[in-house]
Amino acid sequence: MPRKLRLLLDVDGVIADFPQYYLDIVQAKFGVAHSVEAINKWNIGESIQLHPDRRDIVRAALQEPGVAMSLRAYPGSVKAVRKLRKMVDLFFVTSPLGSSTWTDDRERWLEAHFFTGDKPRVTHTHEKYICFGDVFVDDKVDHIKAWSEAWPNSTAVIWDQPWNRKFNVNGRRNVLRMNRWEQLFSLVEELMSKQVHAYVG
Ligand SMILES: [Mg+2]
Repeated sequence: MPRKLRLLLDVDGVIADFPQYYLDIVQAKFGVAHSVEAINKWNIGESIQLHPDRRDIVRAALQEPGVAMSLRAYPGSVKAVRKLRKMVDLFFVTSPLGSSTWTDDRERWLEAHFFTGDKPRVTHTHEKYICFGDVFVDDKVDHIKAWSEAWPNSTAVIWDQPWNRKFNVNGRRNVLRMNRWEQLFSLVEELMSKQVHAYVG
């Protein structure tokens, strides 16, 4: 029997709206509203030209226990993850942000949103490229570059966001850009059909 595809899914910026949480802190503390579309580089504070002292204040707020438990799930992501779980072997690969409770909060958040009765499979690491998968989905360019080079026979998906738009996937044979879950479902179906084909043939 062909094995199930293994899909590695990032959390922040793909299913959890961390950037909006950051902007909400900025608005609450300094009274200035920014749009997520203004985040045109990885560093949010830099993107919105937040004064370095203010960035430190936001960073301290993000260190508070419970932050990873308080993020909103992106619209459509709950349904999408539930569907993916039926299609593939799903693992979350996520980089902890630094608070002492972050990893526990993250696991509880995943459990609360997507899992009933069973535990999500989560790897907390900053070195995502060490994890093998058939498909890897992430919104951070550095992770996509390192992972796609480490696993040239697998497919990396850069999840389209304003902060990664300058990254050009053309010329990278195993990197795709996607912004809709249907595109990811189609990719999974295509890869599964190839696997079955290879098995039969
Ligand atoms: Mg991310």
